[in-house]
Amino acid sequence: MKTIVINRAIKYRIYPNEDQKDLINKTFGCVRKVYNMGLELQQGLHTADMKSMSRNELNQFCNHVWKDELEYLREVDKFALTNSLFNLSNAFKNFFDKKGRYPRFKSKKDHKMSYTTNATNGNIAVERTGTKCGRIKLPKLGWVEACIHRDPEPGAVLKNATISMSQSGKYYVSILFAITVEAASPVMPDIKKTLGLDYSSPLFYVDSEGCSPEVPHAFRRVEQRLAKEQKRLARMVKGSKNYEKQRLFVARLHERASNQRKDFCHKESRKIANSWDTVCVEDIDLRAMSGTLRLGKSTMDNGFGLFRGFLQYKLEEQGKHFVVIDKWYPSTKTCNHCGAYDPSVQLGQKEWTCPQCHKVLRRDPNAARNIRDEGFRTIKRRMEDIRLAV
Ligand SMILES: [Zn+2]
Repeated sequence: MKTIVINRAIKYRIYPNEDQKDLINKTFGCVRKVYNMGLELQQGLHTADMKSMSRNELNQFCNHVWKDELEYLREVDKFALTNSLFNLSNAFKNFFDKKGRYPRFKSKKDHKMSYTTNATNGNIAVERTGTKCGRIKLPKLGWVEACIHRDPEPGAVLKNATISMSQSGKYYVSILFAITVEAASPVMPDIKKTLGLDYSSPLFYVDSEGCSPEVPHAFRRVEQRLAKEQKRLARMVKGSKNYEKQRLFVARLHERASNQRKDFCHKESRKIANSWDTVCVEDIDLRAMSGTLRLGKSTMDNGFGLFRGFLQYKLEEQGKHFVVIDKWYPSTKTCNHCGAYDPSVQLGQKEWTCPQCHKVLRRDPNAARNIRDEGFRTIKRRMEDIRLAV
């Protein structure tokens, strides 16, 4: 029996006491401090035309030089500092591999408050004490009160924990577990069990059956509210008492919208992954797929990338297929009935008539069916290659 190891994270809300809060906030600061010191150091080396430090050298430098200079660095979790420097090294690596921009200094104002610590010798533990209550043990902090809404799977091995604070001042810990599972044998693709999804802005998606998901009303409500309150915030005097109050309020709305969106994406992807064997999507613009909220855009739009990610792992863990078709495949301008290509189809056009077979085609379902068929051809080819290679 073949087994594979998969990583799965669970995010818990934690309720630190005042002392624990102090230490967590201090750690956020120290993590930012060493990141910025590391960045300055590497920058200095680069301008002097010298070789940059490896991540281990940076870490040694932190342990032997910075910790002597700045005593307070010793008070916080050492893994948090190491991970921060490793993150910096990764940022540089991405930059040199042309996959990211040059690392920037982190400021207290515009950066996410978080740090990651590693699991060793039982320094991190999750314990349930009631239906939803419990506690989580974290390095330096000891036991922190927590809401245990979900138990880790039996046999899951704890890897690391990321402690974070949201904009509205709530604390969370996301714990990464490694789980060994039996590898599902690959399902043979079948066109009857293949679904195509065409990304569509107000509807989220239109599938090859012509259906769209039902986006809960509550969503739209929070969204509209968010837009309104955001506008109010923009009109307020920065730094004033009212501004601060409004900022917190907007941050809470953002959190609520983001939670609703995540919940929706989980449910929708579960439904599809259980009823279909192969799901095909287009390779769309990465910006539209990002999981973060952007102003002026529907929160659902920003969730499509999240949704695709959930869908992929939910299919693959069952030996099913998630197929991304080529970005240049003309899914909207090809007739699904006869295969004719019509370059005159416009972006905003909802319907068009095929010049060859004269069928009236609805834009989105037609595109979704083309995505399904092209994806099916791709997966068949891929499976054939695997079979030939064995
Ligand atoms: Zn046609």
